[in-house]
Amino acid sequence: MAAHARHSHRRSEHNHAEQAERRHAGGHSHRHYGETMLSVEDALERILLHFHTLEAKPTPLLDTIGQVLAEDALATHDIPPLDNSAMDGYALRAADVHGASADNPITLKVAGVVAAGELPNVAVTPGHAVRIMTGAPVPDGADAVVPFEDTDEMQRRAGGLPLSEIAVRYQVAIGDDIRPAGQDVRKGESVLKAGVMLRPSEIGVLASLGHDSVSVFRRPVVAILATGNELLEPGDPYKPGMIYDSNTYSIAASVARYGGIPKLIGIARDNLESMNASLKDGLDSDMLVTSAGVSKGDYDMVKDVLTQHGEIDFWSVRMRPAKPLAFGILNAGEGRKVPLLGLPGNPVSALVAFEQFGRAAIRRMLGKPDAPKPTITAVLDEPIHNTDSRRVFARAVIRRENGIYRASLTGDQGSNLLTSMTRANGLAICPEDLPVKQAGESVQVQMLDWTEETF
Ligand code: AMP
Ligand code: MG
Repeated sequence: MAAHARHSHRRSEHNHAEQAERRHAGGHSHRHYGETMLSVEDALERILLHFHTLEAKPTPLLDTIGQVLAEDALATHDIPPLDNSAMDGYALRAADVHGASADNPITLKVAGVVAAGELPNVAVTPGHAVRIMTGAPVPDGADAVVPFEDTDEMQRRAGGLPLSEIAVRYQVAIGDDIRPAGQDVRKGESVLKAGVMLRPSEIGVLASLGHDSVSVFRRPVVAILATGNELLEPGDPYKPGMIYDSNTYSIAASVARYGGIPKLIGIARDNLESMNASLKDGLDSDMLVTSAGVSKGDYDMVKDVLTQHGEIDFWSVRMRPAKPLAFGILNAGEGRKVPLLGLPGNPVSALVAFEQFGRAAIRRMLGKPDAPKPTITAVLDEPIHNTDSRRVFARAVIRRENGIYRASLTGDQGSNLLTSMTRANGLAICPEDLPVKQAGESVQVQMLDWTEETF
């Protein structure tokens, strides 16, 4: 691919158009290929037309991480439910300890004890206090809490004195160290709105409202199919001339990362029967992702198969890597349609195309807003060349130096070099209309990951 890419550098857009025209005029069957060079945005728009938020489904709370809430979460009670103590100490009437100080402690009778999880069985009357633990409901009659440290409790214990009374060494104001009922959440309030994405904090809030299950837009099942006679299943014995199927796994991992459920349907061989059989296994999914078989010369067979099952287009997307892309809609029977995203075969191309298109489709189905990968501005350490007017997604290493992000490249950008993707934490973009992004220029970088080293 790298060699191929270098050769094609000289081919101008013009030439592409001419070639496409020639093909067209000749009534060539490759009607869809190369005819349209879609921008990344156009390709994305056309793809997203076919994706919608999936139905909502009650889901066990812990399974909802990263999903989107389908209905408002209402509070059925106040949180905290009752006025309660913020400290371990004594609940009392502020007026009773007015003027208390270390030199002038005021002694109160201890009328009882209330622990967290208990209701007080005694009220606080003038001249009295109730020993209280953090989180325990404040007894009637009390309007403040003094922490243990502000009493002589320690000394009493040390001296073996009874705790039937206590000396308070500080005066307090009404409300001190009392957490009022409803301070965090009021009964009837909609605490989390539909549309919110659930993170650990939201999941905690939902638990605090008493929910063990909530309604979220369900996760899409994404069927993943590799194609190629050369492919071996990882785990199978190595055979010379063959390569292990890595696309299935990198794509499945991406699906899971973005919140979908990968469904591996294996490897289809480069023949009609095998492709047909495999495709059927993907028809019960929400999206079918294939890899390989979409590049020129290859796609005829894939096209024949796919057209039997639905409407498929083969696109050239103005990007590098991952120019060839197939997209279409398969008929899954009974009027059901399944979108198919046909990624290129080269492992980096497949991943980069999935980042641009597959991720967006999954987000749509999950009910998340359309949002590009988080993108930062960095200063380039070395140039990114762009000799055929495509948007270049260069594998880059982003690090922060003296408060600015710097981007270096991972070396050879061949789209077959999957390990270079493991070294990258971002994709640095040279726009389609620039022949080169020079070293020292600022560059937009789609962040693949944020690690400690990035900061
Ligand atoms: P193709 O689109 O079929 O011409 O494939 C392009 C390149 O990607 C070839 O070198 C294939 O061997 C390679 N390739 C295709 N599928 C996979 C896969 N599932 N895993 C790893 N490499 C693949
Ligand atoms: Mg192939």
